[in-house]
Amino acid sequence: MVITHVIKNNLYVNLTNHCTNRCEFCVRKTELPGSYADLRLEREPTLEEIIADVTSHNLNMFSEIVFCGLGEPTCRLYDVLSTCRAIRERCTTPIRINTNGHASLIMKEDTAPAFRGLVDCVHVSLNAADSYTYDKLCHPKFGEDTFMGVLKFAREIAKYVPKVYLTVVRGTLTDTDVDRCAKIAADLGVGFRIRELGE
Ligand code: SF4
Repeated sequence: MVITHVIKNNLYVNLTNHCTNRCEFCVRKTELPGSYADLRLEREPTLEEIIADVTSHNLNMFSEIVFCGLGEPTCRLYDVLSTCRAIRERCTTPIRINTNGHASLIMKEDTAPAFRGLVDCVHVSLNAADSYTYDKLCHPKFGEDTFMGVLKFAREIAKYVPKVYLTVVRGTLTDTDVDRCAKIAADLGVGFRIRELGE
């Protein structure tokens, strides 16, 4: 069971395989090359196992610690935040969460304030420029209100986390929709990033 793995100078934390989307382009649907196949968890690790694994590393040596694996980290939001606290007790290495932006939909409350002081950067997968396209591409568990929920999460989290980016996947949208997504990010006052398929 691979909870943490290192890519370049970053430590990646893979603490769940659950997700509230079923994106057309999700790497979970494909055969994973080499050691990446080990990111498929035979069971969900306990919080104790996650913290023990993360803190077994010399955390000061990484450029970033990133919560991003074969699932949506905020399906276990409070375990993510507890792990962030354990990291914060040991180092000042920046912490990033890559998320589908569903945390507040999952928890049925505004979760943004809970990130304050624990997380340095959040990448929110926007994936589409409108609700219709989002539904077709991501098949969210929360239905047609999900897209607006993602935008609301991005707007709220930007009040508590220093760096927030909306992201889209290259090749999954038209150029026009990529431009529309960039405008949505600008209107929300957050950054915008195009990521590569399978990143
Ligand atoms: S949000 Fe991420 S983990 Fe979830 S289905 Fe989409 S690509 Fe896969």
